[in-house]
Amino acid sequence: MKYDYLIVGAGLYGAVFAHEAKARGQSVLVVDKRPHIGGNVYTENVRGIHVHIYGAHIFHTNDRTVWEYVNRFAAFNRFTNSPVANYRGELYSLPFNMYTFNKMWGVVTPQEARAKIDEQRAEITGVPRNLEEQAISLVGRDIFEKLIKGYTEKQWGRDCRELPAFIIKRLPVRLTFDNNYFNALYQGIPIGGYTRMVEKLLQGTEVRLDTDYLENKAALDALAGRVVYTGPIDAYFGYRLGHLEYRSVRFETEWLDTPNFQGNAAVNYTDRETPWTRIIEHKWFEFGRDEEGREIPGTVISREYSSEWKPGDEPYYPVNDDRNSRLYAQYRQLAEAERHVIFGGRLGEYKYYDMDQVIAEALRRSGQELDESGERGFLN
Ligand code: FAD
Ligand code: UDP
Repeated sequence: MKYDYLIVGAGLYGAVFAHEAKARGQSVLVVDKRPHIGGNVYTENVRGIHVHIYGAHIFHTNDRTVWEYVNRFAAFNRFTNSPVANYRGELYSLPFNMYTFNKMWGVVTPQEARAKIDEQRAEITGVPRNLEEQAISLVGRDIFEKLIKGYTEKQWGRDCRELPAFIIKRLPVRLTFDNNYFNALYQGIPIGGYTRMVEKLLQGTEVRLDTDYLENKAALDALAGRVVYTGPIDAYFGYRLGHLEYRSVRFETEWLDTPNFQGNAAVNYTDRETPWTRIIEHKWFEFGRDEEGREIPGTVISREYSSEWKPGDEPYYPVNDDRNSRLYAQYRQLAEAERHVIFGGRLGEYKYYDMDQVIAEALRRSGQELDESGERGFLN
C-alpha cells in the first residue's frame, strides 16, 4: 500500500484529519472531486474581497481547544455576526432581542417584552412538537409570522409543522440589547480567507483535485489501508436503501460598482414572496477593506436560493426529520460493517454540524484512531 490513509474530501473534516495523521507520521493522500480544497468553506479573492463561494461562513465556538487549534492556522478578525431581517421593507434586528421586540411591539423594557411574549406563547400548551410550536413558544406568534415562517419555509421547502424543533433553537432569544447572532465565547473570520487556513492545514500533504472517489473507488482503495470518507453516506452505498434528503442552495454572485450595497454582511428576506432567503455582501466580513487596509471601491453580493436536492446538485443541509433519521440509522449500520472506513463530517454523518463541531469531531476521531489503537490505528 502506498499510503496509510486515503482521505475523501478536502473540507474541514478531511483537512483536520489529514493534518493530524501526517503529524503522527502517517502517509496520507487527500482527494476531492471539486477543483479546489476547503469544501464548503472555500473562499476566493475577488479584487481584494474574500468571497465565501458556498455561502456565508462565520467561525464561532465555545470550545477553547478548537479555538486554539484554528488559531494555529490563521489569525482571526473581530467580526461579529449581526444579520438584519427584511420583512417587506421593514427591518428588524437578529437574533431575537430587545431591538427586535421594540421594533415589533414598541415595548421598551425587558419586563414589557417578556409580558408580550408570555401572552403570545400561551397558545402553545405542552412540549413543542415541531418548529412552529417551538418558535411560537420561544418568541410568540407575531415574530413567528414575520421573521420565521416565510424564511424557514423557503430555506427548508417544508411547512414549519413538519420540521424538527431543534432547528429554531439554534437562534438565541435575549431580553438584552445584543445583536450578536451567536452565543459563543470566540468568533471571527480568518484573515486572508478560509482557503488559506485550509492550505496551511494541508501543507505538505498530497492532494488530488477533480478526483471523484466513488467513480474511481477500486483504484483509489488499492492505494491505502484505511479510508476517511466525508462525502454523503448514502452516495457511498450507491443509495441502495434509498435517498437521504438534503437541501441544496444556489448562489447568484455579482460584482457591483458601488461601495456599499446593503450596509451589512447578511440581510435575511423573511417574507415568503422574495425568492431568495438572504443576500450576503462579502466585504463586510472584513470591514470593507482589503488586506493592506485599503477601502474597496466596489462590492460582491450573493443571493441565496434554497432548493430540494436532486442527483447532480451539491448537498448542503441534511434534513434531520424522522424519516431521514431512521434511514440514516440504517446506513449507519452498513457503515459499521465497513471496518476500514471512517465516515465523518456533515455529509458522512448526516448531521447539521457547524465548523467548530466538525473540527472537534475530526480531532476526537483522529485521536481515537491514531493514538489509542496501535501504531497505525487499525481497528480491524
Ligand atoms: P464539506 O465542506 O462538505 O467537505 C466535504 C468534501 O468532500 C467536499 O469538498 C466535497 O467536494 C468532497 N466530496 C464529496 N463526495 C466526494 C467524492 N465522491 N469524491 C471526492 N470528494 C468528495 N458553519 C459555521 O460554523 N458557521 C457558519 O456561518 C456556517 N455557514 C454555513 C452556510 C452554508 C450555506 C452552509 C451550507 C454551511 C454552513 N456552515 C457554517 C457549516 C459548514 O459549512 C460545515 O460545518 C463544514 O464546512 C463541514 O465540513 P465537512 O468537511 O464535513 O464537509
Ligand atoms: N431562521 C428564521 N429566520 C431568520 C433566520 C433563521 O426563521 O431570519 C430559522 C430558519 O429555520 C433557519 C434556522 O432558523 O433554518 C437556523 O438559522 P441559522 O442562521 O442558524 O441557519 P444556517 O446559517 O445554518 O443556514
